[in-house]
Amino acid sequence: MISFLDLKRVNEPHEVAIRTAVERVIESGWYILGREVDAFEQQFANYCQTKHCIGVANGLDALTLVLKAWDFPIGSEVIIASNAYIASVLSITHAGLTPVLVEPDPRTYLLDTARIEPAITERTRAILPVHLYGRCCDMDPIHTLAQRYKLNVLEDAAQAHGAVYGEKRAGNLGDAAGWSFYPSKNLGALGDAGAITTNDDALANQLRALRNYGSAQKYITDYRGHNSRLDELQAAILAAKLPALNSENSRRRALARMYLAGIRHSDMTLPPGDQIEQDVWHLFVIRHPRRDDLKTYLREQGIGTDIHYPIPPHHQRAYASFAHLSLPISEQIHREVLSLPLNPSMTDEEVAYVIDTINGFSE
Ligand SMILES: *Cc1c(COP(=O)(O)O)cnc(C)c1O
Repeated sequence: MISFLDLKRVNEPHEVAIRTAVERVIESGWYILGREVDAFEQQFANYCQTKHCIGVANGLDALTLVLKAWDFPIGSEVIIASNAYIASVLSITHAGLTPVLVEPDPRTYLLDTARIEPAITERTRAILPVHLYGRCCDMDPIHTLAQRYKLNVLEDAAQAHGAVYGEKRAGNLGDAAGWSFYPSKNLGALGDAGAITTNDDALANQLRALRNYGSAQKYITDYRGHNSRLDELQAAILAAKLPALNSENSRRRALARMYLAGIRHSDMTLPPGDQIEQDVWHLFVIRHPRRDDLKTYLREQGIGTDIHYPIPPHHQRAYASFAHLSLPISEQIHREVLSLPLNPSMTDEEVAYVIDTINGFSE
């Protein structure tokens, strides 16, 4: 059986480093916002080449806290791709803002930059590009529009640890970026964890307060903040795993190359292979008009898959007010996408088996 994602196996190469890190935290007697968090923030900021990294409790909070810090008028609009992950949309509404769902580019599944300008109104304040599946959004046109209309740009980099656009890494491509280190991400903790990267000094200071009740100084409260602190254990574990991120992303690329070269099936749409080196292949997402049959067939052949994602945000009960929207590109994507197993612990033989099995799926 090839499982979609076996996290024990993914973390096995890090076991000694993780145990050492955990031991160090236990011994320190300090468990929240301390030396380990400071050290990881420094290392991750260096990795992203940003001035600041602020560790927070999870990816949803990372995005929400930035949008709250920007303090736009209630009901201001934020432009986001209509096939984004639900957490990206939740961050907008948690901050009292209105998501404006824009159809993605059906080739890349990313924000379609040609559709941004028609969606801008006088209430638009920000664009939220989600680097979905590990590939960066096309940021140059986004920045051109952001400058022209004075909009902020918040990257959702939760699937893009190490991804590159031009000369820069994800996390350094906007005014701020939200990160998740949920265990299944390319850089994953052993629990919940998140961060924000930014080059904005004032924003960084504000976020350091906002994650800790709104206090920059103990018992002095400047903002109505949250409790969204990164703990020392998760920070130490992330710091232990970060040095291997590039080599693990390289392994993901090698596996993606095998899939791209090996899968031959007329009805199958493969992910774009034009940016293999810049993409970090968080997910390898194919499309098939009979997706559910293909998923069942693969399961019968011992291959686990997943769907990212089965229901578009505008069809979720939580967003019933968007139910009237017609977003045919998104709706088709959600009907057809299927994520194949792809993670650094997979062997060539396993990938070859997945390829052969897919190629044997009868039309
Ligand atoms: C995982 C993820 C999030 C949310 O992160 P959590 O840590 O689970 O809150 C947000 N956006 C995207 C694109 C994600 O993949």
